Amino acid sequence: MKFTEFGFDDRLMEGIDASGYEDATPVQEQVIPHIMAGKDIIASAQTGTGKTAAFLLPLINKIITDPGEDHTNTALVIVPTRELAIQIAQHMEGLSYFTSVSSIAVFGGGDGNAFVQEKKALSHGADVVICTPGKMMAHIKMGYVKLDGLKYLVLDEADRMLDMGFYDDIMFIIGHLPKKRQNLLFSATMPHKIRDMARKILHAPVEINISISKPPEKIIQQAFMVYDTQKIPLVKILLKKRDFKSVLIFCSSKLSVKQLTRDLKRGGIPADEIHSDLEQSNREEVLMRFKSGRLPVLVATDILSRGIDIDNIDLVINYDVPHDGEDYVHRIGRTARAAADGTAYTFVSVKEQRKFMAIERLLGKPVPQATVPEELGETPAYNPSAGSRNEGNRGGFKKPMRSGGSGNNRRHS
Ligand code: AMP
Repeated sequence: MKFTEFGFDDRLMEGIDASGYEDATPVQEQVIPHIMAGKDIIASAQTGTGKTAAFLLPLINKIITDPGEDHTNTALVIVPTRELAIQIAQHMEGLSYFTSVSSIAVFGGGDGNAFVQEKKALSHGADVVICTPGKMMAHIKMGYVKLDGLKYLVLDEADRMLDMGFYDDIMFIIGHLPKKRQNLLFSATMPHKIRDMARKILHAPVEINISISKPPEKIIQQAFMVYDTQKIPLVKILLKKRDFKSVLIFCSSKLSVKQLTRDLKRGGIPADEIHSDLEQSNREEVLMRFKSGRLPVLVATDILSRGIDIDNIDLVINYDVPHDGEDYVHRIGRTARAAADGTAYTFVSVKEQRKFMAIERLLGKPVPQATVPEELGETPAYNPSAGSRNEGNRGGFKKPMRSGGSGNNRRHS
């Protein structure tokens, strides 16, 4: 789903564009319309699903389009840790860059100076206050925090806040808020204590459940950082290097499916294709050949990523980075079914690095990087936060390494 479909204000759309977001993630797709409609929400969504933007975007939109808005502590976002408060404040800054919405992060551990600044901001009023519970409670107790104009409350990572013993602090803060407000609760898990708290805080909430499955451990996952033009030669090299019996290659568009299949056939690799331009009977015939082992390499769009049952695929190649984590898990889950082991390679071009980083976050760990064979020449470095929308920029490349290495694990910052 495109962001244009939510009906956001143009100033907010500029911030979305500048943040490099193109399509909404599943949690955004499900949550945003309900928030826009003024509903309370209880959502189970983990970090990495895009949940922060799922609540920030509609809140910013509401604040900038409400003519009666008085801009004094309108939205309160309560989070468990200072790191998360800082991260959300940074997100907020990026997304609201082209609007006049103001925000402040209020968290423990700062010096006296920080306290004075927070006091000033809270008594004067910021549009969005992002805070940890203990520090916010301390400010409220001092009596200067204006809360009568508050309209929106967000509890983020609610399960973690309860695990850290913040229940009483949260209820103290809520006790000082106007009764009439919109409440949004996000939690990775939904134990009883969260449901009990939700019953006390939320009014007729819409329940949203975005649980992300993890890929089976036995799948060997590797990522290749490449330029777009290196993708076809890399497929050919990898297929020739090892004797894979059954290979499924996913491309994001019909065009790349057709182009890659043509190139593989020309290179003497027995491949065929499946996509929505083919007649159903044609697709079934190709799939039958693949399932029976007569066709070793199948190139397909995402129509094959879910639900198809083929047990003996030993390699899945993501020729393009899948749209989101859920698609990634589904695609690579086509290999290593039944008892067999499987390998999943993902080709990541420069402009796909950001998308890939979001998938890694969702998986909870980085995918090991494989060494690109030397004959392909220079390859780009993995630097997703440096603005990967610049495919043309070949700066920051790294020297090719000897092929045959087992991949260099690394963490991103
Ligand atoms: P979160 O789950 O909120 O921690 O977000 C995880 C990462 O996904 C962050 O780096 C966000 O900037 C990024 N992100 C959020 N929404 C989108 C989107 N629609 N498209 C691409 N990246 C996104």
